[in-house]
Amino acid sequence: MTLTAELRDILGHDRVLSEPLERWVYGMDSGVVRGDAQLVAFPETTAEVAAIVRCARHYRTPIVARGAGTGLAGGAIPTQPGLVVVLTKMNFVEIDEANATAWVGPGVINLDLSKQTETHGFHFAPDPSSQSACTIGGNIANNSGGPHCLAEGSTVGHVLALEMVTADGDVVMLGGPAPDPIGLDLRGVVVGSEGTLGIITKALVRLTPNPPDVRTLLTGFASVEDAAATVSGIIARGVVPAALEMMDQRMTQAVERFVSAGFPTDAAAVLLAEVVGLSAAVEAEAAIISEVARENNATTLRVAADESERARLWLGRKSAFGAVAQAAPDYYLHDTVVPRTKLVETMTRVYEIADRHGITMLNVFHAGDGNLHPLMAFDSEEEGMLDRVKAAARELVEVCVQVGGALSGEHGIGIEKRDLMKLVFTEADLDAQARIREAFDPAQAFNPDKILPAGSRCFDLGRPPLEGMWV
Ligand SMILES: Cc1cc2nc3c(=O)[nH]c(=O)nc-3n(C[C@H](O)[C@H](O)[C@H](O)COP(=O)(O)OP(=O)(O)OC[C@H]3O[C@@H](n4cnc5c(N)ncnc54)[C@H](O)[C@@H]3O)c2cc1C
Repeated sequence: MTLTAELRDILGHDRVLSEPLERWVYGMDSGVVRGDAQLVAFPETTAEVAAIVRCARHYRTPIVARGAGTGLAGGAIPTQPGLVVVLTKMNFVEIDEANATAWVGPGVINLDLSKQTETHGFHFAPDPSSQSACTIGGNIANNSGGPHCLAEGSTVGHVLALEMVTADGDVVMLGGPAPDPIGLDLRGVVVGSEGTLGIITKALVRLTPNPPDVRTLLTGFASVEDAAATVSGIIARGVVPAALEMMDQRMTQAVERFVSAGFPTDAAAVLLAEVVGLSAAVEAEAAIISEVARENNATTLRVAADESERARLWLGRKSAFGAVAQAAPDYYLHDTVVPRTKLVETMTRVYEIADRHGITMLNVFHAGDGNLHPLMAFDSEEEGMLDRVKAAARELVEVCVQVGGALSGEHGIGIEKRDLMKLVFTEADLDAQARIREAFDPAQAFNPDKILPAGSRCFDLGRPPLEGMWV
């Protein structure tokens, strides 16, 4: 028997892809790293996932779990010949209205969960800009954020329990419906572990009540400094908006060409702020935000008049990356985070790096929590361009770390930033993380080569990255 034949015994012929053309797309995600998926399987149940893992273990074949492949750090791409397990067919939703929770399959699309719970008066708060495509399994594995995570927190705060298939092919339940389950918080360890500890087959997620009222404010500024000062000023006044997003002029111009969202294209930066809650509170908070914006020389100040204008503004924000994809043959989206008070200093240095390397840089970011998304638009056919982009990307991360930031705000480490982990973690830190991974998966069968750099643990095989890889 071969692994392919055994998997076809378990799943049937059509749910196992082995032809090069069929599996080609599963060798990439939405980032810049490319791999090669040798075999792709589509389970529909937890029992099937467990059987796949046991089978792959028998053949000593590495496994990469995959949701929708919208990840930007190469997390879902195989770095060694192996098996990609795509969870998108596990997409059930069971709503528990009384407890404001839902059991969901890992393959449920983020936005579909909010659509399905809307009639019950709920939504799933983490809302990555990719929410119309990305899956809950991918959100959990990457501990994803989104524009509305400023007040609500990222995915980890919205997951109560996880069902997971372990490296032995066992099925375990981590966490539970109680707000503070006893025992070690292994649920918290698995959230954000990027598919390196097991395959998530089911999750109990917290649902957030839909707010009774909402105000969305659009403000424009003549300088990025004024916009950043407004962000700090709003928070200093005790208002934590549901969302507080910033875009620079190049980005608003690209968005306007793409979807006509109504952003002022003459402003150096725009802020999109949203407050939610009871009407009186929302009015009061919107008034404070307007006041702070005026104090910081806002050149545009508008409150969305109705739901359709609000939806148009958010469409603009969430289309930012699509807008750039229309404007340049290639783009490389970075994700780092700095203390909010360092935003202006960091932005100045980000623009300086882009200018020095002759790269077009556009910026869109979750300004409220200091999460930057510098986006380099380029043409990889241009002589030497890829090298310049790579050099600029590394400098960007180094600058953010120097001012007290982190490697990633929300997109994860994957393979893209694996070798930069040493910028922020000591040998002892990395060894501690490697030991945890070893406890879950001694053979490193799940998503090998991801997150931890070679040499994090003494037994580490120090495998080189894939031939031709970007990092
Ligand atoms: C246009 C665009 C906008 C984006 N905006 C945001 C944003 O605002 N905020 C944000 O945080 N991210 C954003 N992202 C990144 C990406 O969408 C998120 O990381 C998302 O959560 C990935 O989900 P996915 O289903 O596509 O996962 P994949 O890309 O398929 O996988 C991501 C990681 O999760 C692991 N994984 C997937 N499913 C499982 C499972 N069932 N069990 C164990 N491991 C699993 C994979 O192995 C991989 O390491 C954006 C991406 C794009 C392309």
